[in-house]
Amino acid sequence: MMDRNTLLSLLRGEDDSLLARADQVRRTVYGQDVYIRGLIEISNFCKRNCLYCGIRAGNPNAKRYRLSPEEILLCANHGYDLGFRTVVLQGGEDPFFNETTVCKLVEDLKTAHPDRAVTLSLGEQPKSTYKAWFDAGADRYLLRHETAIPTHYAQLHPADVTLETRKDCLFALKEIGYQVGSGFMVGSPGQTLEHLAEDFAFLSELQPDMIGIGPFLPHCDTPFAAEAAGDLDLTLRTVALSRILFPHALIPATTALGTLHPKGRELGLKAGANVVMPNLSPEDARARYTLYNNKLHTGAENAEQLDLLKAQVEAAGYRIVVDRGDVKR
Ligand code: SAH
Repeated sequence: MMDRNTLLSLLRGEDDSLLARADQVRRTVYGQDVYIRGLIEISNFCKRNCLYCGIRAGNPNAKRYRLSPEEILLCANHGYDLGFRTVVLQGGEDPFFNETTVCKLVEDLKTAHPDRAVTLSLGEQPKSTYKAWFDAGADRYLLRHETAIPTHYAQLHPADVTLETRKDCLFALKEIGYQVGSGFMVGSPGQTLEHLAEDFAFLSELQPDMIGIGPFLPHCDTPFAAEAAGDLDLTLRTVALSRILFPHALIPATTALGTLHPKGRELGLKAGANVVMPNLSPEDARARYTLYNNKLHTGAENAEQLDLLKAQVEAAGYRIVVDRGDVKR
């Protein structure tokens, strides 16, 4: 881990070569390859009330939906035919998707295509549930820590969730054997550069396989409706720092980054990201999985339009590969 003053000066943008250096590191470890993940947003029902999130339980304007296991299988298998060798199931913390239901779903996904990786992103669960899903065949789990400062965590979440529990979940997932992803938003209300330095310190402790970073973007039906969006350049610097500090990590150019700026996805790739996660959800579900306003789900964010994404990725100087895209250690 780099010392805190160096880290802070890099976050402040005092080194013009940061992004290019990150790209060098990425090319050394992963070459030009960009891994694709088919994202299926399985439900926007959520029992949590995260203050930043558009699908929080307390948003009465959210139009709720839930895909059936059959619909999810169809989507995922269609994705396989398009070239996706990883499917990501993400959703709110919806009690419908309990231990048994998700076990069956993961088994069915693995039976249909044993060479496909299954990533889950279904929030905080008991360790026994994480274990059951892993034993059913799940390969990876995404759970951002969101912020590594307890008081800041409490500004972003209601009192029924704590940073401590979130960390316990992440270490449990690692211990079980998942490839684990964590990460945070840049520019969430109350965040300072010192907070970001602490986020990196936590990531050093966790040693995640995947690091998801995107700008905070406000949603009109949340308590943070009037807050400013995260900064593009600062987000790119945190992506670049992630690559430099964790050369082997799988780092997505996130949808939030693409939503913040028309060239966000390409800029993310050039700053060290090596993963993109286009949307495979059915059309009507996409419009309802609104974590923040104006969330992209068309064009290159649409898994159906892989050609568009391929062209964008190639224009940026990389190439999409048909591969599970596991972490290189
Ligand atoms: N329920 C799952 C999935 C959450 S959505 C979980 O708790 O892990 C995935 C990520 O979207 C979150 O971890 C959060 O960092 C991000 N997100 C949520 N609301 C956002 C917003 N308003 N702006 C930017 N990112 C947001």
